[in-house]
Amino acid sequence: MHIEQIRQSLRAAGAGASHEFRVLRLWSQALPQTSGKRRPEHFLPASLLAALPALEAQLAGLVRLQSVHPGADGSERLLVELADGQTVESVLLPREGLCISSQVGCAVGCRFCMTGQGGLVRQLGSAEMVAQVALARTRRPVKKVVFMGMGEPAHNLDAVLEAIDLLGTAGNVGHKNLVFSTVGDPRVFERLPRGRVKPALALSLHTTKDELRRELLPRAPRLSPQELVDAGEAYARATGYPIQYQWTLLEGVNDGPDEIEGIVRLLHGKYGVLNMIPFNAVDGVDFRRPSWERAAEIARTLHRRGILTKLRQSAGQDVDGGCGQLRARSIAVLRP
Ligand code: SF4
Repeated sequence: MHIEQIRQSLRAAGAGASHEFRVLRLWSQALPQTSGKRRPEHFLPASLLAALPALEAQLAGLVRLQSVHPGADGSERLLVELADGQTVESVLLPREGLCISSQVGCAVGCRFCMTGQGGLVRQLGSAEMVAQVALARTRRPVKKVVFMGMGEPAHNLDAVLEAIDLLGTAGNVGHKNLVFSTVGDPRVFERLPRGRVKPALALSLHTTKDELRRELLPRAPRLSPQELVDAGEAYARATGYPIQYQWTLLEGVNDGPDEIEGIVRLLHGKYGVLNMIPFNAVDGVDFRRPSWERAAEIARTLHRRGILTKLRQSAGQDVDGGCGQLRARSIAVLRP
């Protein structure tokens, strides 16, 4: 289901723009239907009041919490069932962040990612993305939403942009606290600057070598690392938000001195930050994680060479909620 369908149902029931906004606000922020002594429904037209219960039931049926897996770092991996029985995962992060999924599965097939191993199963509707936020907000406040869960947002662009638009308006998430995370796609750089809500951008770089990047991200669009950084830089300058360049550190693959030189060449003087995340173990995937000392040494070297680098342990790692580890667990297995 898409947000536009919700808007159409509301309009068909007599909602004006302000009613529409109010209903979407209550839903996306998981706000109770009453506020103080005055029930907001009192301000809605009778035809809309009559239509609301059915619509609310439809929205409530979009997602269902299957199970919660708390991590030692305060994160929580949520297994979320969609109306057709498919499942996705969202991860509540420390400091009021939430990572959500935009697809069931993913077609990019990154070699180090669990989600990519099974291909794309289906797209999520924009309403299913916002519903993940609303569901998470029934557990804790959410002030930041990153599209870094299952799926490649550029492959479901219209729906992701519709969700971002709603979250950045009625959904009460600051625009720079919405993070569109992508392997890079020319359409992203065309569309994002045109939206009324412009999210921050995270670009999955992973290597500075064109050929290696094609191997690691086999079905990503054919943008070279240089083209990716050029397009990212233009967006960063236009929005005023630095680009987050993502780098999964794989031992013996992209942690050598040649890559350090490549990073300095590509990113020096650019408006961005390099997020390095040592690879998270994934069953059946044959990469290794460099030692923390090695990773810290790389980050220090880059810092000395003028590259703003953050070395991160991805949140939720001990509950398989880290980057590249999200995947739908089979409902059949989870249900008794
Ligand atoms: Fe898809 Fe992201 Fe996994 Fe790559 S890392 S396969 S883009 S979900």
